[in-house]
Amino acid sequence: MKTLSLFMLLVLFIIPQNHEAQNRRNKKKDNNSESVQKPAAKDKEKTIQELVKSSKEIDGLFKIYQDTIKGTIQMLISKDQIAKEFIYFSQIGNGVIDAGGFRGAYTGSKVFKIEKYFNNLEFITQNTSFYFNPNSPLSKSKEANISNGNMASIEIEAYDKEKGLYLIKADNLFLSETLSQIKRPSRPGESPTSFKLGSLDKSKTKINAIRNYDKNTDLAVEYVYSSPSVLNGGSNAVADGRNVSIQVYHSLIAMPENNYEPRFDDQRVGYFTTQVEDQTTTSSAPYRDLIHRWNLVKKNPEAPISEPVQPITWWIENSTPFEWRETIKDAVLQWNVAFEKAGFKNAMVVKVQPNDATWDAGDIRYNVLRWTSSPNPPFGGYGPSFVNPKTGEILGADVMLEFAHFTNRVLYDKVFELASIHKPFDNTDINNQSGKYCSLGEELHQELMFANAVASASGASDREVERIKKESMMALIMHEVGHTLGLNHNMKASQLYSPEQLNNADFIEGKCLTASVMDYAALNVTKDRSKQGQYDDVAVGPYDLWAIQLGYTAFKTEDERQALLNESTKPEHIFGNDADDMRSPGKAIDPRVNVSDQSNDQIKWAIDRIELSNNLMKETKSRFTKNGDSYQELRRVYYLLSGQKGSAANTISRFIGGVYVDRAVAGQEGATQPYTPVSLKDQKRAMAALSKYVFAPNAFDAPDDLYNYLAMQRRGFNFRTPEDPKIHNQVLSYQKNVLNHLLHYNTLQRISDSELYGNQYTLSSVMKDLNDAILKPDISGNVNSFRQNLQIEYTNNLIAILTGKQSDNYTNNAKSMALYNLNAIRAMAAPTGDIASRAHKQHLRTLIDNALKEVK
Ligand SMILES: [Zn+2]
Repeated sequence: MKTLSLFMLLVLFIIPQNHEAQNRRNKKKDNNSESVQKPAAKDKEKTIQELVKSSKEIDGLFKIYQDTIKGTIQMLISKDQIAKEFIYFSQIGNGVIDAGGFRGAYTGSKVFKIEKYFNNLEFITQNTSFYFNPNSPLSKSKEANISNGNMASIEIEAYDKEKGLYLIKADNLFLSETLSQIKRPSRPGESPTSFKLGSLDKSKTKINAIRNYDKNTDLAVEYVYSSPSVLNGGSNAVADGRNVSIQVYHSLIAMPENNYEPRFDDQRVGYFTTQVEDQTTTSSAPYRDLIHRWNLVKKNPEAPISEPVQPITWWIENSTPFEWRETIKDAVLQWNVAFEKAGFKNAMVVKVQPNDATWDAGDIRYNVLRWTSSPNPPFGGYGPSFVNPKTGEILGADVMLEFAHFTNRVLYDKVFELASIHKPFDNTDINNQSGKYCSLGEELHQELMFANAVASASGASDREVERIKKESMMALIMHEVGHTLGLNHNMKASQLYSPEQLNNADFIEGKCLTASVMDYAALNVTKDRSKQGQYDDVAVGPYDLWAIQLGYTAFKTEDERQALLNESTKPEHIFGNDADDMRSPGKAIDPRVNVSDQSNDQIKWAIDRIELSNNLMKETKSRFTKNGDSYQELRRVYYLLSGQKGSAANTISRFIGGVYVDRAVAGQEGATQPYTPVSLKDQKRAMAALSKYVFAPNAFDAPDDLYNYLAMQRRGFNFRTPEDPKIHNQVLSYQKNVLNHLLHYNTLQRISDSELYGNQYTLSSVMKDLNDAILKPDISGNVNSFRQNLQIEYTNNLIAILTGKQSDNYTNNAKSMALYNLNAIRAMAAPTGDIASRAHKQHLRTLIDNALKEVK
């Protein structure tokens, strides 16, 4: 309706303008014929045929003519394409990570129209973010304060009146950043020495391929950015920092004409959405967010289970290692189990791209499972899809997999800085794709290396090692394919089983180890090695079945859909996504929604993981040193195990001040209140675990003779200096991560606030217990060097609450407790013990004395 009426409106506007333009042109022609020589006038009148006579014709949605000598292009637009909606989509064909672009990165889709303005054709991005009920008079003002985007205005070269065809030069449309932004803007605070692309060099930028089909016109363009001199030449992936190429695929796509019915989002299940706001409703939640899903239609609508008219077909790219193809196919087809619940048989089909295929993975008509082994891989897996922004219908998808994530290669320069692994993928330069980048590969890589280390230390067979690889690959592929079906993350899914169930090899055999493959769960590595069963998911989970049912079942009535949604309160349908997860300090509130964790008792699970790492640490030197090799492998395993302990500590810390969230709607069967604070018992248990495994004087003990061997393998001059292993720094970084959460202004504020609604672990008790954990065991005697480091750091954190840059964010209650603790430390830190301990305590007192002078 909306489209139709808008079209009519435009027709009314355009016709008079056309006449006007025509009249003007005629007038101009009359003038010209009086004053200008005849040949010039004739030039102006050139027909389309004359203008394209030295060009190759490439027919498709928009006919393209490419000059056979110069390579320049012209584009034909028919009258009935004017004012009609099309979809524009782009993806990176090839890039360098240095410049923020990489092969297979989707850069979003949008709706555009071509409008005629006098003698020009304009390419205008449409704003699709708002909905106006066409029956409301308000819909007459729907253009108010909303900007469309005029991307280009191109002069018409020739017009064929009879056939209704316009010819334009199309080089500027594709050879500059007209349709989408490619070069990343520089960010405030960016280091002046960081890698930067030069300016777009039009003389070098070129069209690599034109592929034209009935429903889409695709161009592969190589953009070259040049700069005469560069400070930073980039990584080894860049041959010449002064001239860098980024290949982009542009697709102009006909608006699908089918009976696809948009489906709206519900907070109880996790689909990717295109957000649309209803401007004509009085509702306090005026959302008509479109979920992303494929247009699956039953061949036989009456049958309870039918094949789809068109299945979702996946192609295994011909670059895929042979030995993994079967596992990949298995993983994709696991989703058919979910589709059967939604009424579809064989919804997913997997084929292998022939070696002599004439198409490549950049072709949007093919959904491809791709393999690359690229330098500095930005992910382990990535499953992007693109949609019709008007309806949410998924039009195409790929899955990108990186070989490095199935190796023991160290992928991060500072291995012990968990922050680098746990931060969400940097997607600030990519439009409309937030939440779509998946860092499961990174999480999984750590987990995979950990499982390998544990298995190899316990003398596992080659078959066992192969099993770990196969199961984790299945899990990764099911997860990425899940994204391409429209599902976003479910970081709460690991709540499904108890630690006992996960330790029962028979019980978990053949199952998904969590409620959903869309979690970033830790691998199941049992502390008691005799109980080891499956390591990772080999089937999709119960939440996945339910979510696919909600997205794809052809519901007869809305009541039917609501009834299925009301099953969200079943424990196996538990759901929480990235917005709720607690991986970063101070972010979110429900400790069950987290990454790199497992089981419905995360505290117990985390303690097990720490103890398992501690046990393994004792044997590391003998197990991971090989005669004839350098100590690189030993060093890697040392950092890996320490990192596991740090990550488990973070999981535990989130329970303190945590609040469980229930997404159920009012009146739903099985619903609890939206907010329920974590029990006093569990919060105390978390504090006791942190005290013992993170803060205690011996928490990070490693065999002394290990440190002498933590040497990196040398490689020419390409070597980090100074090369010391920096052990104190490393241990403090784990402790700091925990303190950053516990002393975050959001956490402390939540503890005070939640005392009003059921939290029994009061702010004063939390702060006192933390103070005791960090100081009491040794403050009256000798304090070892790790603990000195921790106590100074902690004291500085308390001071920062009172006088630091962020102090305005802290509540007065939190400030009072910080002051109280500082005074307590001041009283405890009498100069006793050995010289180093005395010096340390004097340092503490001086810090506190100076800080208290500043407190007003
Ligand atoms: Zn993901």
